[in-house]
Amino acid sequence: NEGLGSWPARRARKTPHRTALVFGGQPTDYRTLHARTTRLAHALRARGIRRGDRIAYLGPNHPAYLETLFAAGTLGAVFVPLNTRLVGPEIAYQLADSGAKALLYGPSHAGLVAGLPGTTDVRTYVEVGPEYEELLAAAAGDPIDEPVVPDDTCIIMYTSGTTGRPKGAMLTHGNLTWNALNVLVDTDLIADERALVSAPLFHTAGLNMLTLPVLLKGGTCVLVEAFDPEATFDLIEQHRITFMFGVPTMFDQVARHPRWPDADLSSLRILTCGGSPVPTPLIALYQERGLTFLQGYGMTEAAPGALFLDAEHAISKAGSAGVPHFFTDVRVVRPDLTPVDVGEPGEIMVRGPHVMPGYWGLPEETAASFADGWFRSGDAATVDEDGYVFVVDRLKDMIISGGENIYPAEIEDVLLAHPGIVECAVIGVPDDKWGEVPRAVVVPREGVVLDPDEVLASLAGRLAKYKVPKSVVLADELPRTASGKLLKARVRKRYGTPDS
Ligand code: AMP
Ligand code: MG
Repeated sequence: NEGLGSWPARRARKTPHRTALVFGGQPTDYRTLHARTTRLAHALRARGIRRGDRIAYLGPNHPAYLETLFAAGTLGAVFVPLNTRLVGPEIAYQLADSGAKALLYGPSHAGLVAGLPGTTDVRTYVEVGPEYEELLAAAAGDPIDEPVVPDDTCIIMYTSGTTGRPKGAMLTHGNLTWNALNVLVDTDLIADERALVSAPLFHTAGLNMLTLPVLLKGGTCVLVEAFDPEATFDLIEQHRITFMFGVPTMFDQVARHPRWPDADLSSLRILTCGGSPVPTPLIALYQERGLTFLQGYGMTEAAPGALFLDAEHAISKAGSAGVPHFFTDVRVVRPDLTPVDVGEPGEIMVRGPHVMPGYWGLPEETAASFADGWFRSGDAATVDEDGYVFVVDRLKDMIISGGENIYPAEIEDVLLAHPGIVECAVIGVPDDKWGEVPRAVVVPREGVVLDPDEVLASLAGRLAKYKVPKSVVLADELPRTASGKLLKARVRKRYGTPDS
């Protein structure tokens, strides 16, 4: 097995007694992680899971999350992590689209799973907790030697798009390995690392920029179910945390917390922040405490790291997302794919052994997202004379709210199902806490008196809470070109200030 499924065995061979995971104060060493992963793989195989089959997971961070990922890898099966913030119809879509045969879920999601609408291929349901433990206890424990090669798919990770439905980015074992190697080369990550994993494992960053590199190196991951600023201080002090990853909103909440001035943060060595632009005042707040952010820019499709700003350049190149990772190539191009000049904006393109082969079951979307073998990011950037890349804008229609990406098309589709709405546009509005929040601009059907609160209520249960607009603005019409194309930029200009 040349894939991730072999990592626990390889670690167990080298460092059996080192602590791999800590959860709820309970440590799991690498030997135990390997033994439990093997048992889970046997249990899943006994329930008919074979190479290539999909195994979904829906729940907060927990050791079972990683055991399931590694067990899937042991069998050559594909792991499908699901976003815990999604509602039933959204989860049902991803289960059906991926064709998952097994679903492991946390007790917090038992109700959602029981009420899942529609039909899926899921035949095996396992609730994490006593049921999961019984399954492991009853399973065989002998080694499994399934041939898995780097090009085999390891994970399907859903990411939304500009056209409504989320797409499954296929990440191979090789993709995830190369990304982890990029992190090991470009940070000073050591075997004694103790990482705080409070970012959700269903997102690429929490899993691939933090957890997998630490486990590859033989360090310790302290898993927490959900980010909480108060608990973050306790965990840092209690576990002498050395490495944290977060989106800017998380670091912002920590810095604004009353415990910030007196907290003992002396153990922290590596802080990485990414997923959306990092505000300069936030960098300054940490700098005052002698803490430097390493900043990353990437995307699910690149597993995810593409650009990285190291500690040495955090100040001199503030505002930049850095230079490409060691095994990565990035270029910024004009619409005709020629490279831009210094200071001229263009689209970021990414190439490297960590870039996905494509979207699950979507050959046309896959073809459209590559040009000459380079992945098109849909982000605009400039490059300075030293080759540092500055992300300046998004060419794609996307909102980033508290680290969650929101694609307006998905919300607009649901809004248009409202009988009183003829047209609508969803835009991002600046927000102190979340960076941006979605706002709906809607045009009522003639003769209909729309109540914004009623419009919002009609979205409940159909969209995850973070996608539901925080405000609804009524408009007589939306700006369009002569050919009828919506002028989103103009909608943003007219309705995009916090109090408009
Ligand atoms: P995801 O697939 O959820 O990882 O989202 C990828 C997108 O997030 C990128 O295409 C960017 O639009 C945005 N993004 C990620 N990191 C950064 C960053 N450091 N600065 C600005 N935008 C970012
Ligand atoms: Mg995305």
